[in-house]
Amino acid sequence: MTIFNFSAGPAVLPKEVLQQAAAEMLDWHGSGMSVMEMSHRGKEFMSILEAAQRDFRELLGVPSNYKVLFLQGGAIAENAIIPMNLAHLKGQSATVDYINTGSWSVKSIKEAKRYCDVHVAASSEAQHFAQIPARDTWQLSSNPSYVHICSNETIDGVEFQYTPDIAAETNNAPLIADVSSHILSREMDVSKYGVIYGGAQKNIGPAGLTIVVVREDLLEGGHAMTSCPSAFNWKIVADNDSMYNTPPTYAIYIAGLVFQWLKKQGGVAAMEQRNIAKAALLYDYLDSTDFYQTKIAADSRSRMNVPFFLHDHALNDAFLEGAKERGLLQLKGHKSVGGMRASIYNAMPLEGVQALVTYLKEFEKREQ
Ligand code: PMP
Repeated sequence: MTIFNFSAGPAVLPKEVLQQAAAEMLDWHGSGMSVMEMSHRGKEFMSILEAAQRDFRELLGVPSNYKVLFLQGGAIAENAIIPMNLAHLKGQSATVDYINTGSWSVKSIKEAKRYCDVHVAASSEAQHFAQIPARDTWQLSSNPSYVHICSNETIDGVEFQYTPDIAAETNNAPLIADVSSHILSREMDVSKYGVIYGGAQKNIGPAGLTIVVVREDLLEGGHAMTSCPSAFNWKIVADNDSMYNTPPTYAIYIAGLVFQWLKKQGGVAAMEQRNIAKAALLYDYLDSTDFYQTKIAADSRSRMNVPFFLHDHALNDAFLEGAKERGLLQLKGHKSVGGMRASIYNAMPLEGVQALVTYLKEFEKREQ
């Protein structure tokens, strides 16, 4: 039976990548060592790191005036690391702006409040996060140190379909985006952001690696808080080429294999077309029936994370059991939202979504 894993993260990885990692597990390229056993400063691992950084930059089109940092701690740690590095960009008493679009924004806001004065410039909480607040309703500060968004809310299933332009209203504040759950799934104009960041365990590789892409001018000026740990001070990490402390070497190696796989698939533009087709297949079916419901406004629907509900919640367990019997795994929704959630990241093939839609139809027919 073919297994399709719809986990929100850690999530499915390309089979070819896992096969290559298995083949190289005991002896990487004749070195006599597993990647896990190598010194992070040795020439073998340095070549792995450089290739991963180069391929990532190429795939995402990262401009030359941006640093790509490979860190640890995940996006939740970044929720603190960001204000520690940038809240004082425009002075000690400057405010920072956040847009509240779902569960991960809520967490980012809560954490930032421990370090600085946070202004929530827009929120869809009253609408149960069913839609990204329209850009013309945002009440941005006139001179915040930065504006933070979560561009794909993994739990709620909303995704920005555009890059908000905030520069004019905010005296050129940098836009910061948590891209954890849709990085490399769609083309992005990195030059419109000051910082993008995310954990790797959805669209890139195993948990343990956190990627931060930061515009170089934001590292200058010494505005990181003195309390910021050196290992999380972006300037120090950048000056040491992500080698200030030991980076998550094996996670970087697997991420590098995923980047090579992505390039073979035709890169991010080709992947985006596939992701559009996969999401359309699933949403179109969900929209065609009352048996299942999606609660997200059409203009805000995530291509990566699709929460949906059975009209009769009493059928949830039977639905999940039947799905498992067919090899469709980890479809249970996040506990804060309930229902189901299908995460259909880059490594989920179209056949996986087709198998899910076939099962949705079958289950509906059986239970109606
Ligand atoms: N932000 C988003 C959008 C996420 O999806 C997640 C993980 N599900 C996080 C932040 C938190 O990531 P981590 O647990 O790796 O810190």
